[in-house]
Amino acid sequence: GHNNAPDYLKGLNPEQRLAVETTEGPVLVLAGAGTGKTRVLTTRIAHILATGKAFPSQILAVTFTNKAAREMKQRIGILIGEGNVEGMPWLGTFHSIGVKLLRRHAELAGLRSDFTILDTDDVVRLIKQLIQAEGLDDKRWPAKQFAQMIDGWKNKGQGPADIAEGDARAFANGKGRELYKAYQARLQTLNACDFGDLLCHPIRIFRANPDVLKEYHKRFKYILVDEYQDTNTAQYMWLRLLAQRPQPSRPSSSTGLQSAESRKDDRPSEPLRGPRGGPAPAGAEQPVSDNKVNICCVGDDDQSIYGWRGAEVDNILRFDKDFPGATIIRLERNYRSTAHILGAASHLIAHNEGRFGKTLFTDRDEPEDDKVHVHAAWDSEEEARAVGETIEAYQRQKHNLNDMAILVRASFQMRAFEDRFITLGLNYRVIGGPRFYERMEIRDALAFFRVVANSGDDLAFERIVNVPKRGLGEATIRQIHDTARALRIPMLEAAGNLAESDELKPKPRAALREVAANFERWQKALETKPHTELAETILEESGYTDMWKNDRSAEAPGRLENLKELIRSMEEYESLRSFLEHVALVMDAEQNAGQDAVSIMTLHSAKGLEFETVFLPGWEEGLFPHQRALDEGGRSGLEEERRLAYVGLTRAKKNLHIWFVSNRLIHGLWQSTIPSRFLEELPESHVEIAESGNSYGGYGNPYGGGSFASGRGGRQNPYGASRFDNVGANAEKSGAFSNTYSTPGWQRAQANRTEATDRNWGTRS
Ligand code: ATP
Ligand code: MG
Repeated sequence: GHNNAPDYLKGLNPEQRLAVETTEGPVLVLAGAGTGKTRVLTTRIAHILATGKAFPSQILAVTFTNKAAREMKQRIGILIGEGNVEGMPWLGTFHSIGVKLLRRHAELAGLRSDFTILDTDDVVRLIKQLIQAEGLDDKRWPAKQFAQMIDGWKNKGQGPADIAEGDARAFANGKGRELYKAYQARLQTLNACDFGDLLCHPIRIFRANPDVLKEYHKRFKYILVDEYQDTNTAQYMWLRLLAQRPQPSRPSSSTGLQSAESRKDDRPSEPLRGPRGGPAPAGAEQPVSDNKVNICCVGDDDQSIYGWRGAEVDNILRFDKDFPGATIIRLERNYRSTAHILGAASHLIAHNEGRFGKTLFTDRDEPEDDKVHVHAAWDSEEEARAVGETIEAYQRQKHNLNDMAILVRASFQMRAFEDRFITLGLNYRVIGGPRFYERMEIRDALAFFRVVANSGDDLAFERIVNVPKRGLGEATIRQIHDTARALRIPMLEAAGNLAESDELKPKPRAALREVAANFERWQKALETKPHTELAETILEESGYTDMWKNDRSAEAPGRLENLKELIRSMEEYESLRSFLEHVALVMDAEQNAGQDAVSIMTLHSAKGLEFETVFLPGWEEGLFPHQRALDEGGRSGLEEERRLAYVGLTRAKKNLHIWFVSNRLIHGLWQSTIPSRFLEELPESHVEIAESGNSYGGYGNPYGGGSFASGRGGRQNPYGASRFDNVGANAEKSGAFSNTYSTPGWQRAQANRTEATDRNWGTRS
């Protein structure tokens, strides 16, 4: 009976408990944010182990990140005692599990088990060679673009033979398929594979070798998947192969998604129990019949945010067709957030069509809970300043920085916060990606600037001497190095010398001559040109900006955005040198591992996490929802943006602050911005617009009347009159800002202000 249930089951509600205890057969937990899906998965594993239904090595558990896998392992240990979890070798991401499988069966994919995994750069270089070998013009048919296409095919589990005719023809006058084939052959010769192969090879191995697949069918008694809504087609195929056993011809009772209620009859009788805290004795229990699939997937269609990367939310919606007889369990109680936060999030996501529709409730309805705060700021600098002040106010109330997070739509937004926090001495850490100044494109750009500011900066010089690629090989660079060492001169100077000597072949010589001439010109301009202008010139004349403009990878637009943000941030400094000094200090700041620190991350990487206090800056049209998502995805693009907003809102347990600014630098031009339509979609009853969110002057209460409604210049909100218009309008009219702090950026900006229509600027993460 339930009274003597083990401790780890006691805190669960009846539906969660059903999901944990229905260990046999397929189970889908389809439920909203914060309802305990991940907790169910963790407890389910603990339960399987504690009851001796399987050894740790017989459980396949897929999480979305490696971090999530580590946390899950830890929590299982807490639930049933660490001694009872001797590692879980098959708990990890699709990719980490894929590598493990492939290492075991490499020979079946024509590889050796010590194969290397190529990164994106390697892949592009390889493809470029193949394109050239075909006698094709690699400018007309960029390798990056083809790499992207291959990635897309592999996300769908398609090999060269599977791709559609049209797709195959789309590249290099119909040579797409041949190139793809040649690429795979080349990988094999190199004993290498790319990321997509980590899934595609195992799929092919399983299909071609039923005995191997059978081995894994026997091994994996239980399969569990978190964040199922974001699996792509290849991951789905991989899972199905592992999970689906030959079905006996038994009629399925399942015709559609069913509630937990209607399936209560299928509930297993009291679960089988092994001795507590240890695996079952050998041969004690064999509950898994050969054709029963013990797969448990948990997910939330409202949190599907990787459609742009090939994720198929339909995977979750057809679960009961793939796994007949599936128990579908809905969890409706949210344990994470206050009623205000939950109310705001539920109301927002209800604007999406084509969703399952879920009700969520919480018992947590305490009168002292704050509503969701919405704040206006003048520009991103003031936004960062105000967020910093709010964080410090929470700190004074004894809140830990660890419990706070800033979730941004695009990575370029991080820069303002990082700079501000450094100034304040506030610890922060960037999760799921490098910090702003550590990003590849920022380091490259800084390297150019450093050499201009200090021609003796050899480290910086080495970084960019062959960026963008100028055909300078390792040998040439070593020669520059040696010359510099021998003559005790900077490498830049040595490069100039070599360019004039006949020690090098004509090609590298010409390249070095250009590099030397470039730096000479830029160093001269340092005295005459404003440093921000010079910085832009350097990135353009070096070909660096163009390099990313011609890059077809998904990250390229974000990198260009970051470069723009870098130049913008330089306006705050008097000279290139003082700017570089500032950066050196920022770079020196510790990552604060293990310390109390605010987290900064993109909304995409915040999936599954939770924080006491969450800040969501940049809720403006064009940034969030992101213009590119709207341009490319139409309504479904908008809906994915809205799901992302839902993910953001539901990360907060107690305090939620949303910001929007009136002015943002877009395409290098200052523009008036319009508050995000998502703000309009938050219900008034759960939202409070900050009356004086900070010390920069009161914004007035927009609900109080139309006194701020006029005088908005050229700014128009196409979505109709907005209660948030007024907030921004007051900020604009108050004039309080120019008195409070100097805004050199803004003064310059006013001169530049235009109504550019092309807003296709940005990245998704
Ligand atoms: P998301 O969709 O955001 O991934 P989720 O459904 O996976 O959310 P969890 O992260 O598992 O939700 O749980 C949310 C919070 O609620 C966690 O802090 C968890 O510990 C807590 N929680 C879940 N179930 C219960 C319960 N039965 N009793 C108390 N707290 C619970
Ligand atoms: Mg979760």
